[in-house]
Amino acid sequence: MISEGARAENVIAALGPCIMPCCFEVREDFIKELQSIDGQLMKFITERGGHYADLPGINKYFLLSSGIRPENIYVSGECTCCDEEKYFSHRRDGSRRGTMMSVIGIKNKRSEPL
Ligand SMILES: [Zn+2]
Repeated sequence: MISEGARAENVIAALGPCIMPCCFEVREDFIKELQSIDGQLMKFITERGGHYADLPGINKYFLLSSGIRPENIYVSGECTCCDEEKYFSHRRDGSRRGTMMSVIGIKNKRSEPL
């Protein structure tokens, strides 16, 4: 979006429901990959009998690093793995799960209003 002319201070980001730290147990290879990207990302890994990653925290970190204002970042906080009534979850259901979709766009100043 920024390469297409958007200014970071005008970007509004929404992190929708996803697997949360309560359920997102990760393996050592995930942790090593994260560490190779940026050592600061280790603060999003907690250990409690296994390693658990804070996925929205990681994504929010990248958004903030890109210059997005904290007040312009919305985090759902809903865990797709915990809420079986509302969401599919590969972690919970494996390959017998459904699929969810998100849409993102950039408004063209010259386009007609929808
Ligand atoms: Zn959960």
